[in-house]
Amino acid sequence: MPHTLDPELRRAVATRIRYYNEMGIYDFYRQPVSEAASVASGAAVVAEPQSESREEMSPRKAAAVAAPPAIHGDENVFEVFAAKPEQRVSDPVKALKIIREDLGDCTRCMLHKQGRKQIVFGVGNPEAELMFVGEGPGADEDEQGEPFVGRAGQLLNNMIKAMGITREQVYIANIVKCRPPGNRTPEREECETCSPFLMRQIAVIKPKVIVALGATAAKTLLAMNSSMAQLRGRFYDFKPTGVRSNEPDWQGCKLAVTYHPAFLLRDPRQKGEAWKDLQMVMKELGLKAPKTNT
Ligand code: SF4
Repeated sequence: MPHTLDPELRRAVATRIRYYNEMGIYDFYRQPVSEAASVASGAAVVAEPQSESREEMSPRKAAAVAAPPAIHGDENVFEVFAAKPEQRVSDPVKALKIIREDLGDCTRCMLHKQGRKQIVFGVGNPEAELMFVGEGPGADEDEQGEPFVGRAGQLLNNMIKAMGITREQVYIANIVKCRPPGNRTPEREECETCSPFLMRQIAVIKPKVIVALGATAAKTLLAMNSSMAQLRGRFYDFKPTGVRSNEPDWQGCKLAVTYHPAFLLRDPRQKGEAWKDLQMVMKELGLKAPKTNT
């Protein structure tokens, strides 16, 4: 049974959220509707400043609750009113800058004190039709402050070139923005803490297609715990959780899953499979491979 919120209560909650927005507070812990009701009556405070470690609802949990609580139609009051500061600007370059400033010298998860040299925010065309999302920075990326610049990055560049486009035309980011020590897989909690910023980047860029590179990216974005074999080979409808685009008509994008370039370096036999995934993406975007592709 979908939850319904009394229209008067909904208005009260919306007013309270707007009040916090005006004070520069944009992130909220989500609570069951019954608890939200007590917020509206002033009995509890749900907003926390952005410097808190629990920045906002994790994508996995958000995915679990975003759809069912239909409130006054199909809208979720928190999705509707918890506007982010970047939504006030239409220029995507400025909007991304606001997100970067909001991230600051981030200490929200343990990765900030495990040897990172710098935060690797993301790079590329802020109006890209195609976005690649990897797992996290490696040593080269940590050194240079840019995602996918090491050996895996060179392979990604070749993959992009084979699609008939350039690295400058796409946007590239990772699930976590700080290098996990020893290039270990980021912990789920680290992914959940960091990925809301990626969701905001996606909402600004509004790509037509996202390619999730590897299992960590795919599982975090899709909130699914399936194997790569199950995840690949199809498109998913994707909308970033916990944030709305500043373009209300944007209905989200397609998401495809393929192997991480670092995995392809370890097992080059899978390059053909990855190429199949990219061809599916090319078809969706109307791209044609140059005759000299590998
Ligand atoms: S990985 Fe993300 S959440 Fe964790 S410290 Fe770095 S920027 Fe902050």
